[in-house]
Amino acid sequence: MKVMDQFEFLVDGVILSGAVFQAERRISFATVFGRGRSFTRLNCAGFQDDASGKNAEFKLSRHRPTQRRDQELSVADELLQANQQFVKNFDLGDLAVRPRRRLAVLACMDSRILFERCLGLHPGDAHMIRNAGGIATDDALRSLIVSHHLLDTQEFIIINHTDCGLLKVREDELRQRLTDKMGTSAGAPAHFHAFDDLQENVRQQIRRVKSHPWIPNHIPVRGFVYDVKTGALSEVEAP
Ligand SMILES: [Zn+2]
Repeated sequence: MKVMDQFEFLVDGVILSGAVFQAERRISFATVFGRGRSFTRLNCAGFQDDASGKNAEFKLSRHRPTQRRDQELSVADELLQANQQFVKNFDLGDLAVRPRRRLAVLACMDSRILFERCLGLHPGDAHMIRNAGGIATDDALRSLIVSHHLLDTQEFIIINHTDCGLLKVREDELRQRLTDKMGTSAGAPAHFHAFDDLQENVRQQIRRVKSHPWIPNHIPVRGFVYDVKTGALSEVEAP
Protein backbone atom coordinates (compact mmCIF):
# COMPACT_ATOMS: atom_id res chain seq x y z
CA MET A 1 0.00 0.00 0.00
CA LYS A 2 1.32 3.43 -0.81
CA VAL A 3 0.30 7.03 -0.45
CA MET A 4 -1.13 8.23 -3.76
CA ASP A 5 -1.81 11.82 -2.99
CA GLN A 6 -2.07 14.32 -0.22
CA PHE A 7 -4.80 16.91 -0.10
CA GLU A 8 -6.38 19.72 1.80
CA PHE A 9 -9.94 21.00 1.61
CA LEU A 10 -12.62 22.73 3.59
CA VAL A 11 -15.63 21.00 5.13
CA ASP A 12 -17.98 22.81 7.47
CA GLY A 13 -15.42 25.47 8.19
CA VAL A 14 -12.74 22.96 9.16
CA ILE A 15 -9.64 22.60 7.05
CA LEU A 16 -9.10 18.91 6.41
CA SER A 17 -5.88 17.48 5.20
CA GLY A 18 -5.01 13.90 4.56
CA ALA A 19 -3.65 11.26 2.32
CA VAL A 20 -5.08 8.90 -0.25
CA PHE A 21 -3.82 5.36 -0.10
CA GLN A 22 -3.59 2.86 -2.90
CA ALA A 23 -3.51 -0.90 -2.62
CA GLU A 24 -3.03 -3.04 -5.72
CA ARG A 25 -3.81 -0.22 -8.11
CA ARG A 26 -7.11 0.49 -6.45
CA ILE A 27 -7.55 3.50 -4.27
CA SER A 28 -9.15 2.08 -1.22
CA PHE A 29 -9.43 4.71 1.42
CA ALA A 30 -8.26 8.03 2.65
CA THR A 31 -7.19 9.16 6.04
CA VAL A 32 -8.20 12.69 6.83
CA PHE A 33 -7.14 14.91 9.66
CA GLY A 34 -8.62 18.25 10.55
CA ARG A 35 -6.88 20.44 13.09
CA GLY A 36 -6.47 17.96 15.89
CA ARG A 37 -9.57 16.02 14.97
CA SER A 38 -9.45 12.93 12.91
CA PHE A 39 -12.00 11.96 10.31
CA THR A 40 -10.20 8.76 9.87
CA ARG A 41 -10.66 6.06 7.27
CA LEU A 42 -13.43 7.53 5.27
CA ASN A 43 -15.12 5.30 2.82
CA CYS A 44 -14.18 6.80 -0.49
CA ALA A 45 -16.43 4.88 -2.78
CA GLY A 46 -16.34 7.78 -5.21
CA PHE A 47 -12.68 7.47 -5.98
CA GLN A 48 -11.90 7.01 -9.63
CA ASP A 49 -8.56 5.41 -10.13
CA ASP A 50 -6.90 6.63 -13.27
CA ALA A 51 -3.70 4.75 -12.41
CA SER A 52 -1.80 7.96 -11.88
CA GLY A 53 -4.14 9.04 -9.13
CA LYS A 54 -3.82 12.62 -10.27
CA ASN A 55 -7.35 12.89 -11.59
CA ALA A 56 -8.90 10.98 -8.76
CA GLU A 57 -12.26 12.27 -7.72
CA PHE A 58 -13.99 11.38 -4.58
CA LYS A 59 -16.78 12.22 -2.32
CA LEU A 60 -16.83 11.88 1.42
CA SER A 61 -19.34 9.26 2.30
CA ARG A 62 -18.79 9.64 6.02
CA HIS A 63 -17.41 12.84 7.38
CA ARG A 64 -19.44 13.51 10.46
CA PRO A 65 -17.11 13.18 13.37
CA THR A 66 -18.78 13.02 16.75
CA GLN A 67 -17.55 14.85 19.79
CA ARG A 68 -16.85 11.54 21.44
CA ARG A 69 -14.64 10.41 18.60
CA ASP A 70 -12.66 13.62 18.83
CA GLN A 71 -12.12 13.14 22.53
CA GLU A 72 -11.02 9.53 22.22
CA LEU A 73 -8.49 10.32 19.59
CA SER A 74 -7.06 13.29 21.40
CA VAL A 75 -6.63 11.19 24.55
CA ALA A 76 -4.96 8.50 22.46
CA ASP A 77 -2.54 11.13 21.18
CA GLU A 78 -1.73 12.13 24.75
CA LEU A 79 -1.13 8.50 25.64
CA LEU A 80 1.27 8.12 22.76
CA GLN A 81 3.22 11.10 24.01
CA ALA A 82 3.31 9.65 27.51
CA ASN A 83 4.56 6.38 26.05
CA GLN A 84 7.43 8.16 24.36
CA GLN A 85 8.56 9.36 27.77
CA PHE A 86 8.02 5.88 29.23
CA VAL A 87 10.21 4.28 26.61
CA LYS A 88 13.10 6.63 27.40
CA ASN A 89 13.46 5.15 30.89
CA PHE A 90 12.15 1.67 30.15
CA ASP A 91 13.75 -0.98 32.33
CA LEU A 92 11.16 -3.78 32.45
CA GLY A 93 12.38 -5.71 29.44
CA ASP A 94 13.86 -8.50 31.53
CA LEU A 95 10.75 -9.34 33.54
CA ALA A 96 9.68 -12.98 33.47
CA VAL A 97 6.36 -13.85 31.87
CA ARG A 98 5.34 -15.80 35.01
CA PRO A 99 4.04 -13.49 37.74
CA ARG A 100 6.67 -13.21 40.47
CA ARG A 101 4.15 -13.28 43.35
CA ARG A 102 2.30 -16.16 41.68
CA LEU A 103 -0.96 -14.26 42.08
CA ALA A 104 -3.95 -13.52 39.86
CA VAL A 105 -6.37 -10.72 40.72
CA LEU A 106 -9.91 -10.59 39.36
CA ALA A 107 -11.39 -7.14 39.92
CA CYS A 108 -13.79 -4.54 38.62
CA MET A 109 -12.55 -2.27 35.86
CA ASP A 110 -13.38 0.82 37.95
CA SER A 111 -10.90 3.57 37.15
CA ARG A 112 -10.49 4.56 40.81
CA ILE A 113 -8.78 1.31 41.75
CA LEU A 114 -5.09 1.37 40.93
CA PHE A 115 -3.55 -1.91 41.95
CA GLU A 116 -0.02 -0.66 42.07
CA ARG A 117 -1.10 1.70 44.82
CA CYS A 118 -3.79 -0.15 46.69
CA LEU A 119 -2.11 -3.57 46.76
CA GLY A 120 1.55 -2.62 46.60
CA LEU A 121 2.01 -4.57 43.41
CA HIS A 122 4.72 -3.92 40.85
CA PRO A 123 5.13 -4.83 37.19
CA GLY A 124 5.71 -8.54 36.85
CA ASP A 125 4.07 -9.36 40.20
CA ALA A 126 0.59 -10.59 39.28
CA HIS A 127 -2.01 -11.14 36.59
CA MET A 128 -4.74 -8.52 36.51
CA ILE A 129 -8.07 -9.64 35.13
CA ARG A 130 -10.59 -6.85 35.04
CA ASN A 131 -14.12 -6.51 33.82
CA ALA A 132 -17.27 -4.61 34.75
CA GLY A 133 -18.08 -5.71 38.29
CA GLY A 134 -15.16 -8.06 38.84
CA ILE A 135 -17.29 -11.00 37.78
CA ALA A 136 -16.13 -14.58 37.24
CA THR A 137 -17.55 -14.70 33.74
CA ASP A 138 -16.58 -17.42 31.30
CA ASP A 139 -13.87 -15.17 29.99
CA ALA A 140 -12.53 -14.32 33.44
CA LEU A 141 -12.45 -18.05 34.23
CA ARG A 142 -10.58 -18.61 30.98
CA SER A 143 -7.95 -16.12 32.10
CA LEU A 144 -7.67 -17.64 35.57
CA ILE A 145 -7.25 -21.11 34.11
CA VAL A 146 -4.53 -19.87 31.76
CA SER A 147 -2.97 -17.98 34.65
CA HIS A 148 -2.66 -21.09 36.80
CA HIS A 149 -2.03 -23.84 34.29
CA LEU A 150 0.17 -22.03 31.82
CA LEU A 151 1.81 -19.38 33.95
CA ASP A 152 1.91 -21.02 37.35
CA THR A 153 -0.04 -18.66 39.59
CA GLN A 154 -1.00 -20.34 42.86
CA GLU A 155 -3.37 -17.88 44.53
CA PHE A 156 -6.41 -15.92 43.36
CA ILE A 157 -8.09 -12.89 44.85
CA ILE A 158 -11.36 -11.27 43.79
CA ILE A 159 -12.10 -7.59 44.39
CA ASN A 160 -15.46 -5.83 44.11
CA HIS A 161 -15.95 -2.30 45.38
CA THR A 162 -18.41 0.16 46.87
CA ASP A 163 -20.24 2.49 44.49
CA CYS A 164 -19.91 0.03 41.60
CA GLY A 165 -21.83 0.88 38.43
CA LEU A 166 -23.39 -2.59 38.42
CA LEU A 167 -24.79 -2.03 41.94
CA LYS A 168 -26.98 0.75 40.64
CA VAL A 169 -28.75 -1.00 37.82
CA ARG A 170 -31.10 -3.87 37.33
CA GLU A 171 -30.38 -6.39 34.64
CA ASP A 172 -33.76 -6.13 32.88
CA GLU A 173 -33.90 -2.33 33.12
CA LEU A 174 -30.43 -1.95 31.68
CA ARG A 175 -31.26 -4.28 28.82
CA GLN A 176 -34.48 -2.39 28.10
CA ARG A 177 -32.70 0.97 28.31
CA LEU A 178 -30.12 -0.13 25.77
CA THR A 179 -32.76 -1.61 23.50
CA ASP A 180 -34.67 1.68 23.56
CA LYS A 181 -31.55 3.76 23.06
CA MET A 182 -30.18 1.73 20.17
CA GLY A 183 -33.47 0.75 18.62
CA THR A 184 -32.68 -2.95 18.61
CA SER A 185 -32.28 -5.81 21.05
CA ALA A 186 -29.13 -7.91 21.28
CA GLY A 187 -28.43 -11.50 22.33
CA ALA A 188 -24.93 -10.82 23.57
CA PRO A 189 -23.90 -10.17 26.23
CA ALA A 190 -26.33 -12.65 27.70
CA HIS A 191 -25.83 -11.15 31.18
CA PHE A 192 -24.56 -7.88 32.57
CA HIS A 193 -24.22 -9.45 36.02
CA ALA A 194 -25.84 -6.54 37.83
CA PHE A 195 -26.13 -7.11 41.57
CA ASP A 196 -27.57 -5.52 44.69
CA ASP A 197 -25.67 -7.22 47.51
CA LEU A 198 -21.98 -6.45 47.36
CA GLN A 199 -20.78 -9.05 49.86
CA GLU A 200 -22.96 -11.75 48.39
CA ASN A 201 -21.76 -10.87 44.91
CA VAL A 202 -18.15 -11.42 45.99
CA ARG A 203 -19.10 -14.76 47.55
CA GLN A 204 -20.84 -15.76 44.34
CA GLN A 205 -17.69 -15.08 42.32
CA ILE A 206 -15.60 -17.09 44.78
CA ARG A 207 -18.03 -19.99 44.38
CA ARG A 208 -17.89 -19.76 40.60
CA VAL A 209 -14.10 -19.87 40.60
CA LYS A 210 -13.76 -22.60 43.21
CA SER A 211 -16.33 -24.82 41.58
CA HIS A 212 -14.66 -24.85 38.19
CA PRO A 213 -13.34 -28.34 37.56
CA TRP A 214 -10.10 -27.03 36.06
CA ILE A 215 -9.24 -24.89 39.05
CA PRO A 216 -7.60 -27.18 41.62
CA ASN A 217 -8.95 -27.25 45.17
CA HIS A 218 -5.61 -26.24 46.67
CA ILE A 219 -5.70 -22.79 45.05
CA PRO A 220 -6.78 -20.24 47.68
CA VAL A 221 -9.56 -17.97 46.38
CA ARG A 222 -10.22 -15.01 48.68
CA GLY A 223 -12.61 -12.14 48.13
CA PHE A 224 -12.48 -8.47 49.15
CA VAL A 225 -14.47 -5.27 48.97
CA TYR A 226 -12.54 -2.11 48.17
CA ASP A 227 -13.98 1.06 49.67
CA VAL A 228 -13.62 3.83 47.09
CA LYS A 229 -13.91 6.49 49.83
CA THR A 230 -11.15 5.19 52.09
CA GLY A 231 -9.06 2.91 49.88
CA ALA A 232 -9.45 0.13 52.44
CA LEU A 233 -9.89 -3.51 51.51
CA SER A 234 -12.08 -5.64 53.71
CA GLU A 235 -12.22 -9.36 53.35
CA VAL A 236 -15.50 -11.06 52.61
CA GLU A 237 -16.18 -14.15 54.63
CA ALA A 238 -15.73 -17.20 52.49
CA PRO A 239 -18.91 -18.86 51.23
ZN1 LIG B 1 -17.27 -1.54 39.60
